[in-house]
Amino acid sequence: MAAPTFANLTVLTHPLIQHKITLLRDKRTTTRDFKQLVNEIAMLMAYEVTKDLPLEPVEIDTPLERTEGHQVAGKKLTLVPILRAGLGMVEGIAQLIPSARVGHIGLYRDHDTLAPVDYYFKIPSGEHDRDFFLLDPMLATGGSAVAAVTALKRAGAQRIRFLCLVSAPEGIRRMLDTHPEVPVYTAALDRALNDKGYILPGLGDAGDRLFGTR
Ligand code: URA
Repeated sequence: MAAPTFANLTVLTHPLIQHKITLLRDKRTTTRDFKQLVNEIAMLMAYEVTKDLPLEPVEIDTPLERTEGHQVAGKKLTLVPILRAGLGMVEGIAQLIPSARVGHIGLYRDHDTLAPVDYYFKIPSGEHDRDFFLLDPMLATGGSAVAAVTALKRAGAQRIRFLCLVSAPEGIRRMLDTHPEVPVYTAALDRALNDKGYILPGLGDAGDRLFGTR
């Protein structure tokens, strides 16, 4: 059956990304390799996701003469990992964009209401003028992603992109229903969720595999 298509969803099909995603899914992949692969995929994704960033002209002096170059316009990009698995994506992107600022969002699920609640929220000032890259390797039910975008918007963020490695149609649907203007980038759109909310075929628990807590 053909994969569903969604407005505002980009599946990054670069061969290197697809190759590395397959290694990531393999249950034999060690914690060390898993961490390395997540960083590499995040870096490759960032290359693609930033291709429409606006540029502004800038004058510089080469050793020979003055010339006009270009720089990315606006305030520094801000990476916001959703704790804890999102942390695994920061380093790879920061290698490509060393000037990026890093905020953090921690969420837990309230036992009674089942609604996600943010227990930690810290982002750099100048929210209105920044481009935010919200990071979480897995977009499963979409509960955390939707809550994280809501929290960022509440704090004043206006330009948010969501980057995940593996996603399920349920999560994409929920995200695009609630925050239709937020572009979602994924390296893989998988088949479905199982009854425990894990993505199929997926890669298991991304946080456990990243931090060796299995
Ligand atoms: N979170 C994970 O780490 N893995 C899944 O499959 C779903 C949510």
